Formats: sequence, structure tokens, C-alpha cells
Amino acid sequence: MKQIHGLAVHAAGAQLLAYKYGVEELAANDVEIKISHCGVCHSDVHLIDNDWGMSKYPFIPGHEIVGTVVEVGSNVRDRKVGERVGVGWQADSCGICEWCRQGDEHLCAKSQPTCVGRNGGYADSIRVNSRFAIPVPEVLESENVAPLLCGGITVYSPLRNHDVRPSSRVGVVGIGGLGHMGLQFAKAFGAEVTAFSTSKDKEAEAKTLGAHHFINTRDTGALKKVAGSFDFILSTVSADQDWAGYVAALRPKGRMCVVGVPPSPIQVPAFALVGGQKSISGSPTGSPQDLHEMLDVAARHNVKAITERFPMAKANDAVARVKKNQVRYRAVLTN
Ligand code: NAP
Ligand code: ZN
Repeated sequence: MKQIHGLAVHAAGAQLLAYKYGVEELAANDVEIKISHCGVCHSDVHLIDNDWGMSKYPFIPGHEIVGTVVEVGSNVRDRKVGERVGVGWQADSCGICEWCRQGDEHLCAKSQPTCVGRNGGYADSIRVNSRFAIPVPEVLESENVAPLLCGGITVYSPLRNHDVRPSSRVGVVGIGGLGHMGLQFAKAFGAEVTAFSTSKDKEAEAKTLGAHHFINTRDTGALKKVAGSFDFILSTVSADQDWAGYVAALRPKGRMCVVGVPPSPIQVPAFALVGGQKSISGSPTGSPQDLHEMLDVAARHNVKAITERFPMAKANDAVARVKKNQVRYRAVLTN
């Protein structure tokens, strides 16, 4: 039996250890990908630590994958051996439900996340349904594009779905892996962009990435000063925040979308939403079609992740840096 070699966690919060699993004949609709790069998304860290109560051990994390197709199943018509592809949060879906049929595969109730209940990309290879192996435009470097496959699409989709345009005033909260790509995409949409950050030292870089303004959220009263300023606020932070303060920072009809997953419920007084006709929403990653579009936009507008490179064997060091908010701005593991 063929073996796939990777790094797995065996218990909540444990170190990644060498781990292999056997695979049978390739399924008819799947492709096998030899992995060259895999980003370290904070969701991997949440899964390692079982923050969401859904982790099953042992498992190999990793869902920002770039590599080369080395084998295709007997039914696969859309991908070829030798093609460079990317894989994000999703590895499969039912393909026949209402959501899959309308191109919203990421909303399928039977969606299979790449590294939940399956083994992910901190490995030498992976197998996924060919529909979720997305060709990578030639001009994009594998190391800079890997983080776009989850982090990038997660910030691109809400900007697009909330009609961000040149007249929009957009705030991006948390300038980490997701947030630093959010600044770049918001700039590509033509918006006036504000970065909200707890890290003063990120100001200069945030401005080169597309922020017109930088707000240090550790300054007392910082949010009050921008009350009524934004059409759209995108929060990428996984910690509890002054949500009422962010809602107050919206203009009438303003919308706030959370993609980071804080531990506590989001509590906002109803009147804060009612008066200005404001709303709060959430957003998951995106469909294969959204991924195609996002990569095309990234290629044309030069959106790319700023990365710190680690050899695959040093994945524990990368995870430790993510936990301490030290990475600038996305760790990428290489084989
Ligand atoms: P990350 O690289 O660790 O960045 C998160 C950023 O949040 C940090 O860089 C920091 O930015 C800010 N932050 C951290 N702790 C904070 C605190 N206590 N208070 C305020 N700000 C804080 O993480 P990521 O990979 O971008 O992921 C962010 C979140 O999005 C995670 O929860 C992840 O699971 C989630 N996620 C969701 C989806 C989805 O489909 N919705 C997809 C991918 C990831 P500053 O230094 O600028 O303050
Ligand atoms: Zn992710």
C-alpha cells in the first residue's frame, strides 16, 4: 500500500510528530497532489488546540496547499498530471445538492474540510476531489499564493459580497495572515482603507499594503474617534472585541462581517443596529469558482502574501510563532 508522510498532532495542543497513512487506489473523481508549499492558517492552530471542539486525533493540519498533480482518477477530466494547483479549506462536497448545483459548494451540508476528518497539507502529498484543485496562474509564486487559498479567499469573498467599491470606506480589523491580504484586496476594490491593529509596529507595512489610515486599537478612545465612519468593517480577529464600538464606527447602512471566530457570543444592543439600519454577518471561505476569480484578481492586481518560510520539518516552530502573533504575515511550510 502507498504511504503519505506528514506531521500529525495526537492530542489537543500537542506538538506535530512524523506520521504516515496508507492510501488505496485513487478514487475516480480525485487527484493526487505532490505538495510543495502549505500555509499555516490560524484555523490550523485552533484545530491543533481543539478550540472548536471538532478535532479528532491524530490528524495532519494544513489547508493552504500548492503542489503539482501527479495522478488523476479515472473520471477526472478537468485536471492534468503536471499541472500546478492550489487547495484551500475544502476538499470535497456532495456535488448534487441545491448549493453545489448553483456553484456554492462551500455551503454544502456535506462539505469536507481539507483537514477536519481528513488529513491535510503538512505532508508530502494529498488527495482531493478534482473540483477543489484550482489551477494557479503562472505569474503567482507558489510561496506567496499558498496563503491565498484559505486566508485570501476568506477576505476576498466578503469584500465582493458586500459590494465594496471605490466610494466605500472599509476597515480591516487584525493585520495578521488574513488581514494583510484584506488590506491588499480592499485597495484593489478601490476603497478607502483603514487598518485596525493592536501592533503599532505594523503601521508602515500596513500602509504599503493598501491602508490609507492606521488605528492602534490599544489607544484608549481610538474607536470612539472614528464613530460613524465606515461602510464596511471586516474583522479577522479570533479574540473578543468591543463589538458595540465597531458597530458605532459604521455609517448608516454600514455592515460588519466577521471571519475570525472569537470565543464568546457577539453582543450588541439591538438599538445600535436598528437606528442606522446596520447589520452584522459572517462569511466562510469561498467556492471553487470564487477561488478561480480571486486568484485571477490577485494575479492582475499583484496581491500576494508576505511570508516567513519554514521547512516542513520545522512546522512546530511556525505554529509557535503564530500563537505569539510574531509572524509577518503568514508562515509557509515548504517541502
Ligand atoms: P493570525 O495570522 O494569527 O492573525 C490574527 C490577527 O488578529 C493578529 O495578527 C492580530 O493582528 C490580531 N489579534 C490577535 N490577537 C488579538 C487580540 N487579543 N485582540 C485583538 N487583535 C488580536 O490569524 P489568521 O490566520 O489571519 O486568522 C484569523 C482568524 O480567522 C482565526 O480565528 C481563523 O480561524 C479565522 N479564519 C476564518 C476563516 C473563515 O472561513 N471564516 C478562514 C480562515 C481563518 P494585529 O497584530 O494587527 O492586532
Ligand atoms: Zn484557513
